[in-house]
Amino acid sequence: MNKITNHMPTAELQAIDAAHHMHPFTANHELAAKGARVITRASGVTLTDSEGEQILDAMAGLWCVNIGYGRDELAEVAARQMKELPYYNTFFMSTHVPAIALAQKLAELAPGDLNHVFFASGGSEANDTNIRMVRRYWDQMGKPNKHVIISRKNAYHGTSVGSGSLGGMAGMHAQGGMPIPDIVHIGQPYWYLEGGDMSPEDFGLMRARELEAKIEELGEDRVAAFIAEPIQGAGGVIIPPDSYWPEIKRICAAHDILLIADEVITGFGRTGEWFGSQYYDIQPDIMTVAKGLSSGYAPIGASLVSDKVAKVIDSGEFAHGYTYSGHPVAAAVALENLRIMEEEKIVDHVQNEAAPYLAEKWHSLADHPFVGETTIVGMMASLALTADKSVRKPFKAPAGTVGYKTRERCFANNLIMRHVGDRMIVAPPLVMQKSDIDTLYERAVKSLDEAYKNVK
Ligand code: PLP
Repeated sequence: MNKITNHMPTAELQAIDAAHHMHPFTANHELAAKGARVITRASGVTLTDSEGEQILDAMAGLWCVNIGYGRDELAEVAARQMKELPYYNTFFMSTHVPAIALAQKLAELAPGDLNHVFFASGGSEANDTNIRMVRRYWDQMGKPNKHVIISRKNAYHGTSVGSGSLGGMAGMHAQGGMPIPDIVHIGQPYWYLEGGDMSPEDFGLMRARELEAKIEELGEDRVAAFIAEPIQGAGGVIIPPDSYWPEIKRICAAHDILLIADEVITGFGRTGEWFGSQYYDIQPDIMTVAKGLSSGYAPIGASLVSDKVAKVIDSGEFAHGYTYSGHPVAAAVALENLRIMEEEKIVDHVQNEAAPYLAEKWHSLADHPFVGETTIVGMMASLALTADKSVRKPFKAPAGTVGYKTRERCFANNLIMRHVGDRMIVAPPLVMQKSDIDTLYERAVKSLDEAYKNVK
């Protein structure tokens, strides 16, 4: 058998890939016919593929490479940690320095009293932890019926059976067995698609009040928690109307239910604050983090837990944990990533330079005849493609067809921009400079022009 290397012809790599590699969230038979794009290396905000093409990564991988690619410091820390202590677990009264140091750092960075950290290998696992933790919390509080978790349609909280059930992705639920019992979904604050004739603010209030109605329907004594992304990411970068979060806060407090903020995407600078909860002035009881925690350089996630919840959970044994909870190499890499973010003031860079410039460019795309609205917070943005911008009219083709074609044009023009239905989204590395944003804009305009011509 040949050794597989970067130097093999692309077609050969694609054939072996198609024969043996089942890709996530991919129709693998289509991929086999087309061949996957083989990414061979990356530096800064640019990927290189096996044909030598230079591609601007406006999605930071999967919303995770916040500090950009190719930071040697992280590779060096990983190598050092692998030599010193490549693995040990944190079960059964053991610990190690990287896990201790990262837990302390996260407690310092997180808002309010999220002073306790339960580690996982990614966002799905951390949300599975949250399901078990909030139920255990209410059991220990003497309220064993408080087990229902309320989430939202079109939310994404991961792909395991638990986290996929928390999520409200109809396509995932349609594939069987989800949602598991005692997880229910209310409407999302997606004004553009679902707001009809209401003002965004009235619509935001209405959607928030669905939470109160659901709690009253089920009975407060049955509801454990509400989980939400401050801004829905995979759902299409859905930025809620300003009225939404204050009302959600009020309802959670009034009904004695826990608030879980899933900050897997919005954490670590994406919104121009360290956490989306700070952007919206929310104080969650539990916060889910992953992705930007290590800038994607190592798989790690965590549940950040408030004093109130940790005190109850820690009063007994919580029968839960992963082999890789607090993995020393992943923890060391995450710590180094956070050191770089702080020392290089990357959150300030987002807030004062990159995000305002991206916003200016992004909003100017709203003039395009193909674009119905543009929205952006920090370094996460979306635009709606529309058949008629005056009335937010959808296309005749099934939802997602035009978005997919537009994404294809972006891909051909060496820009990674994703589509969710007929919404185009970006979440670039936070370290983007103005010249990178200019390139993003130019390639986006070219791709929109080309897609528009084809659709007209
Ligand atoms: N939560 C949110 C908000 C996410 O966007 C994701 C992944 O995209 C997850 C959870 C799941 O994280 P992971 O893919 O690391 O399991």
